[in-house]
Amino acid sequence: MTDTLQIDIHQIEKSRIDSVDFDNLVFGRSFADHMLMVDFKDGEWQTPQILPYGPISYSPAMMSLHYGQAIFEGMKAYKNAAGEILVFRPEENWKRLNKSAVRMCIPEIPEDIFMEGLSQLLRLDAEWIPAKEGCSMYIRPFMFSTDEYVGVSPSKTYKFMIFNCPVGSYYSKPLRVRVETQYIRAAHGGVGFSKNAGNYGGSLYPTKLAMDAGYDQIIWTDAATHTFVEEAGTMNLLFVIDGALVTAPTGDTILDGITRKSVLQVAKEWRMKIEERQLSVQELVEGIKAGKVTEAFGAGTAAVIAPIATIGFEGVDYQLPERAEDAFSKRVFEEINDTRLGKKADTRGWVMK
Ligand code: PMP
Repeated sequence: MTDTLQIDIHQIEKSRIDSVDFDNLVFGRSFADHMLMVDFKDGEWQTPQILPYGPISYSPAMMSLHYGQAIFEGMKAYKNAAGEILVFRPEENWKRLNKSAVRMCIPEIPEDIFMEGLSQLLRLDAEWIPAKEGCSMYIRPFMFSTDEYVGVSPSKTYKFMIFNCPVGSYYSKPLRVRVETQYIRAAHGGVGFSKNAGNYGGSLYPTKLAMDAGYDQIIWTDAATHTFVEEAGTMNLLFVIDGALVTAPTGDTILDGITRKSVLQVAKEWRMKIEERQLSVQELVEGIKAGKVTEAFGAGTAAVIAPIATIGFEGVDYQLPERAEDAFSKRVFEEINDTRLGKKADTRGWVMK
C-alpha cells in the first residue's frame, strides 16, 4: 500500500497512554490517542483528518440520532514478535461496511480512505497496540448521518470515523446461551445482514431478559417460525454434528461474519464435511441428547471462537460435552489465532501489515 492519500494530521500534544493500565484492560473502555474523521458533503468525501480522540459536538436535530442512519464495523490489530502491526482481513470489513451503507442509504466509503486512514492511524498509535498474548487493538470504523434536519429522508452529509481501543480477551469461560422463541432480530427483506446500530439496539431487551435468567447470550431463531437457528448476539454459530461442521447460510437475515468465513475456509482446507444449511432447534436438542452434537461455538471478531457449554430451550438446559483436546473449535482457533498474530505463515493472504 502506498501513502498517496492526503490526510491532515493533528497530533495530540501529550499522549494519554500512561493513564491506561495495560495489565487490566476492560473491553471497550480505553481509547487510543487519535481518531480518523472524514466528512461527506456536497456529494463527495472530503480530505480525511486524524485528530486527538475526543468528543465531537452536534445539533440535537442530527439525523442519525432520530432516523438511524448509523453503521459500524469491528476488527482487530496485533503486534507480531518483530513489533510489526498486523490487521486481520480489513478489506472484508471495508466491503461489509459498504454493503451496510448501501442498505442504509449512506454513501460508500472509498477503499483508499478506509485502508490508508486505518494504517496511518494505527502507525500513529502503534504504542497503544498491546503486545501481550490474548490482547489486541479493537478497531471501530463507523459512519453516520449528520444533517440538522427533522424529516425522514436520507441525510446529505455524513461522517466516517475510526477510533481504536486496546483490549484484553473478551469472553473467558464457555457460554450459557438461550434459544430465543419470542423476540426476533431480523426478517427477510429487513436489515439483518447489515451492521447498523438499530440491530443492536433491538437486541438489548431480549438479551437482558436472558441474562436475568442466568444466560450470557441468546440464540436468534428465524422470524417467521422460530424453528431454525440463526446467530447469537455478536457471533455466528457453528456446530459439529456427526463430525460435520454445520452452520446457517447467511442470506439477508444473518451478518456475514468474517470469522465464520475464515473458520469455513480452514475447515474446507482440512477436508472436513461442511453443511451450510438450516438447522432446526429440534434437531439441535435431539442431537445433543443423542450425543451427536460434539461441539457448539460462536465465531466473531471479539472472541474469535467462543465455546458454548449450555443451550437453554423452553426451560430446559442442554449440556454440551466437555471440549476434547483435539476438538475442531480448539484447532481452528489456534490456526486463526496463530495466523493473525503472525506466528504462522499467512498462506491465505489474510493479514495486512
Ligand atoms: N453476527 C453479528 C450480529 C455480529 O455483530 C458479529 C460481529 N461483527 C458477528 C456475527 C461476527 O462477525 P465477525 O466475525 O465479522 O466479527
